[in-house]
Amino acid sequence: MSELSTTKEAGHLESACYICGGQGADSRDHVIPNCFFKSSRPANLLTLRAHYTCHNRFDEEYARCILSGLGSGGSIVAQDLWNSETKRSFERNGSLRNSVRTSLLRKIDLISPAGLIIDQTPAIRIERDRFYPLMRKIVQGMYFHHTGELLPPNFRSAWNLNALLELSGDRRQMLEASRFGLVYPDIFGCRYLVITEESANASVWWPCFYRDVVLRCYVPPRHLWSPLAL
Ligand SMILES: [Zn+2]
Repeated sequence: MSELSTTKEAGHLESACYICGGQGADSRDHVIPNCFFKSSRPANLLTLRAHYTCHNRFDEEYARCILSGLGSGGSIVAQDLWNSETKRSFERNGSLRNSVRTSLLRKIDLISPAGLIIDQTPAIRIERDRFYPLMRKIVQGMYFHHTGELLPPNFRSAWNLNALLELSGDRRQMLEASRFGLVYPDIFGCRYLVITEESANASVWWPCFYRDVVLRCYVPPRHLWSPLAL
């Protein structure tokens, strides 16, 4: 590749929107939403170029309510968010309150007196269509940040909302082989593993919110994506 085409390629990515992959990104997006932090935000928050219309459509408030609720047992920041911002969200929006309470009530059923989660089934009945689009966007941001390549918006993803329950066998080996990605102490951390087979990438992402809310996202290689994938 000539120097000119390398420059052109870099320029192409520079104006691309990391969410839809299209050109002409007109703003920058916080990959980890601002509202996930308390007022003291780190100065180095990751932002990437995106169309305003692409990054403005996620339900960050709903995701923050769920994650701060799940994390409030082990994280002071999550507890603070739950008692301030989340409470205010609930006061403004009764249907949001009911939806989140219904989801988190089940969490209580699943916790044993010793504080261990005893149920192996998906623990929380969240509204998937409100929650996972934002999580997928975060994976796209991590993917671009750590590999330098765009993950197209139709990528296939398989999620576990409570990855700490599945850390045996192959899954444990994968996690042990993974690398540390972006970290904002107490708020967000990520480990990831990119596996290249026959020039196709598969990857696994473990985003962690508020110290112990760990999700797992498996992204299969492109030839396994279906047109209808979430
Ligand atoms: Zn876009």
